[in-house]
Amino acid sequence: SPHSGTQDTIAAIATAWGEAGIAIVRLSGAEARRLADRQLSLAVPLSGTPSRYLRNGYLLDEKGDAIDQVLAVWFAPPKSYTGEEVVEIHTHGGTLVAQKCLELLLCRGARLAEPGEFTKRAFLSGRIDLTQAEAVLGIIRSRSDEALRAAARTLKGELASFARDIYDELLALSGKMEVSLDFPEEDLPYGSDEDTSHSLQAIRQSLEDLLDRCATGFLLREGIRVAIVGRPNVGKSSLLNALLRESRAIVTAIPGTTRDLIEEVLTYRGIPLRLVDTAGMGIPSDEVEAIGISLAEEAFKNADVRIWVADGSAPPAPFDFDMADRLRDLVHVVAVNKSDLPPGRDETGRTTEEAISELLPESPMLSISAKKGTGLDSLKDAVVSSIAGGGALDSGLNASARQVNEIRAAIGFLRDASAALESGLGQDIAGSCISEARSAMERLLGISGDDTLLDYIFSQFCVGK
Ligand code: GDP
Ligand code: ZN
Repeated sequence: SPHSGTQDTIAAIATAWGEAGIAIVRLSGAEARRLADRQLSLAVPLSGTPSRYLRNGYLLDEKGDAIDQVLAVWFAPPKSYTGEEVVEIHTHGGTLVAQKCLELLLCRGARLAEPGEFTKRAFLSGRIDLTQAEAVLGIIRSRSDEALRAAARTLKGELASFARDIYDELLALSGKMEVSLDFPEEDLPYGSDEDTSHSLQAIRQSLEDLLDRCATGFLLREGIRVAIVGRPNVGKSSLLNALLRESRAIVTAIPGTTRDLIEEVLTYRGIPLRLVDTAGMGIPSDEVEAIGISLAEEAFKNADVRIWVADGSAPPAPFDFDMADRLRDLVHVVAVNKSDLPPGRDETGRTTEEAISELLPESPMLSISAKKGTGLDSLKDAVVSSIAGGGALDSGLNASARQVNEIRAAIGFLRDASAALESGLGQDIAGSCISEARSAMERLLGISGDDTLLDYIFSQFCVGK
């Protein structure tokens, strides 16, 4: 990146756009105090003020006239957000005055900060590591208390220290393997394939644990996409309404990932459940229905979990066999609805519930009544545990999709390494798999210092962060 390492002073409005009590304009860089002092008339200039000491004064316009009463504070390096000299000017809220303040500072020679550039500088100066930088983003984006706590744990460095330990173990293992390659005849303590296999397994297990915790954190933040599927009239819409009615914590309706299906969001055990009612699946009778069905198919495919709603009061139908076939290899939960009515039976006297459990013996199945509102908590529990695998929600760590992918990649490489050892391919092949795993961990931790990666991460931030 053209700006890393240079000492230009950046400026941005750090608070949200719009009217508010106050707005904060932030500066970072070697010239921060000097620029601020030229634009402000303070009782004592910041250059004569101790770090972290709030001064009262005025913001001056081009002609030197006061246009707002402000507070200003500076933070001495390296103990500031960015690790550089930082100034914050608190103007009155209102976009105009904050914008004016920013423009005046830009005229004086500050440069408008890029999105996330303050946090990027914090990373580049070693104030925070990459997992913490991404946790800042996680905090900004959290929509539930639990997601916020997961992000805070990562920000405190839990993810980094866990990942760092694993990385160190990988380094140590590589070291031992290199020694045993160089001296194959020697009787070295950790040289055997078997020992290497054991170490590999242990490290992989740690990575799996880390992945579990990150996956939980990811769910806490992003939520679980749930498609409610089933034939017309089984009670899909009634179920959605019952769930929404019952939940006191409806977060917000996120515009649907599929264009025309509306996503309703409720929070259960801190996890946003993003519910889509698919209007109906099966064979269309006209073109309008065909469009609805293709949207439903899309939602079906893209969901993390599918709730298959079946009408327990109707006899088992051929459609149920098709649905069971489609669901078998996908994450799903079966909700046999209308439990308030007598069960429907086929010619042999078998109930719909029995018929389905023969088709899908492994599936979680719940008897519910959307009408009476019974069985809904068990249903939500089943949905959450079908994804979170019962992992402790309170140990979730904030991780971005990128980080989760790196952990998955590292696990994959270690699996390859174990396979290479088991099939007798030898330690050099295993060694190169291990070094791939190490690279994945380096990208996770930001040790690799890859500029494109950094630009990608920080471009997701807003300007001013
Ligand atoms: P959808 O087409 O799958 O969305 O089904 P709806 O939610 O529109 O429901 C179809 C019909 O079944 C409506 O008349 C509902 O009142 C009724 N219904 C839905 N759930 C229940 C239930 O749990 N018990 C009973 N008795 N009727 C239900
Ligand atoms: Zn419906």
